[in-house]
Amino acid sequence: MSGPLIRLVVSGATGRMGRTVGLLAAEDRAFELIGGIDREGAPPGDGPAGRITELADAAELIRAADVLIDFSAPAFLGELLTRHGGALAKTAIVVGTTGLRTEEESLLMEASRRSAVVTAANFSLGVALVADLVERAAAVLGDGFDVEIVEAHHRRKEDAPSGTALLLGQSVAKGRGADLSSVRRDGRSGRPGARPEGEIGFHALRGGDIVGDHHVHFIGDHERIEITHRASDRSLFAAGALRAARWAAGQDPGRYTVKDVLGL
Ligand code: NAD
Repeated sequence: MSGPLIRLVVSGATGRMGRTVGLLAAEDRAFELIGGIDREGAPPGDGPAGRITELADAAELIRAADVLIDFSAPAFLGELLTRHGGALAKTAIVVGTTGLRTEEESLLMEASRRSAVVTAANFSLGVALVADLVERAAAVLGDGFDVEIVEAHHRRKEDAPSGTALLLGQSVAKGRGADLSSVRRDGRSGRPGARPEGEIGFHALRGGDIVGDHHVHFIGDHERIEITHRASDRSLFAAGALRAARWAAGQDPGRYTVKDVLGL
């Protein structure tokens, strides 16, 4: 790439995703990786982003960045946005962290008045396509087909159901013209009774080193349709986040999704 390098800071830099983003960015000639941020007590020193800066000391680093990519945890992202709102004023923000609560969502909305903010529960092109397929299937099949979404992830994942499962649930609800919050059912146990029409079920498996599997089942009376996505390497998400970062650098302030990045 010709032109100036995009100065990048990684938040959650010592985590699995943060390290992967750092490794790919270090090999990508579009970026200058200027540093990593993480919480106090995170393993110091040897990550691809170099020396890790603690959040409290990160203002100068953030001010020097064109783009910040965050793969951390909701509380950490919230603290980053609260403490460093001023420093982030000219920095595009790409957020991969999932399980965001209303606090973080409203801080991101506030940040998007000053900066380009891209959020995605899943940065893979395949999942963006699956979300479209699922929405179309739901519109065609209607409420007569029961939808169950089953996801599987590694044993250390902290939130459930996954942000991607919820994204796919939103797509089903959109295809049916329904509101997900009123038809969502997270797991079943005891005597939940007969399944109501229109319910969208979510089920989470956790174990080993699974990077991320998502199965959307459309279950009719005499036939079943299953749409599946399996991620086999987390560098898939890191590459997507870097693509979003390239797109976001120089973009007008606003709130964007992976569909904007991919031009879908
Ligand atoms: P990880 O546990 O390996 O890394 C999390 C990083 O955040 C660590 O460096 C940790 O020190 C830091 N951190 C700061 N405060 C924390 C807190 N309160 N709790 C936990 N960690 C804290 O996790 P990961 O697998 O790298 O995933 C990070 C986030 O990215 C998760 O929310 C995950 O769901 C999400 N994720 C998103 C995508 C996507 O495509 N959008 C893909 C994979 C993972």
